[in-house]
Amino acid sequence: AKNCGKNNAKLYSSSLTMQIMSHVKLEVGLRKALQNNELYLLYQPQLDVRSLEIVGVEALVRWRHPERGIISPTEFIPLAEETGLIVPIGEWVLRTACNQARAWQRALHRSVRMAVNLSAKQFKDENLSQIVLSALDETGLDPKLLELELTEGTLMDDAKATLATLEQLRGIGVYLSIDDFGTGYSSMNYLKRFDVRALKIDRSFICGLPQDSENAAITRAIIAMAHGLKMAVVAEGVETDEQLVLLEEYGCDLVQGYFLGHPSSADTITQMLGQLKAT
Ligand code: C2E
Ligand code: CA
Ligand code: CA
Ligand code: CA
Repeated sequence: AKNCGKNNAKLYSSSLTMQIMSHVKLEVGLRKALQNNELYLLYQPQLDVRSLEIVGVEALVRWRHPERGIISPTEFIPLAEETGLIVPIGEWVLRTACNQARAWQRALHRSVRMAVNLSAKQFKDENLSQIVLSALDETGLDPKLLELELTEGTLMDDAKATLATLEQLRGIGVYLSIDDFGTGYSSMNYLKRFDVRALKIDRSFICGLPQDSENAAITRAIIAMAHGLKMAVVAEGVETDEQLVLLEEYGCDLVQGYFLGHPSSADTITQMLGQLKAT
């Protein structure tokens, strides 16, 4: 299928100097984005494939740039990682997301798991567990309701340090999952050693289902493997009714994608959660 798994990153035809200048300008802007309240979160629902009930949401950051309008995280997260700004930005994301999950729990008497993306640099930060603990502490969110999404690349980096960090996070009691599963340098070995609770099948495998028989085989195999390891499976990028039906047939646990809900404001999610409760 066309466009599978590709981000629609814009290609600028400007000269190299122009590109460097705009890069520097963006960096200067990003430094101020936090204090100027230009970052905000959207939340994309994750649904149980059978009941179609919302069981969680994934927090996705956006930047409302004063001149350029809304900038996608695919553009500024790499810059934030390069400059180290991902650490304070990630801390803000974590606290804001925990706060929102706690607010839903209070207002709707429902537990909504909050998934937060963690970049490799954040994972390597020696203060990570302290940052996670204080976000939970300050918001009063139950650690079980916080999911941290890690990528294969993050986990592969340095086995010893990774294990120590994962131990700390496990001690806190947060829920760990592997994002974009199947696209990185996968090693089945770490699935055995690390206490990861869920795999998120990358949308490049879901894209093209049900026609693409190779993607179908990979998706089924990932689900079988995960279940064998007592892990849950989330399918990302579910865009059609047919994909949903197939994933249910395959025994996938959770689904996320445009067919089920776009990344949305907290208010919109509140309405969706409220409606489900009423019916
Ligand atoms: P991701 O973690 O894999 O997040 C899923 C991305 O797929 C999101 O893009 C989401 O809007 C998009 N998506 C969801 N459903 C569909 C669908 O059905 N079809 C298609 N084509 N796309 C779908 P978004 O929000 O632009 O985020 C892009 C990436 O930026 C994320 O990929 C994640 O790697 C990163 N990111 C976003 N927020 C944060 C954050 O707070 N911290 C960190 N470290 N990274 C973040
Ligand atoms: Ca993610
Ligand atoms: Ca993903
Ligand atoms: Ca990603």
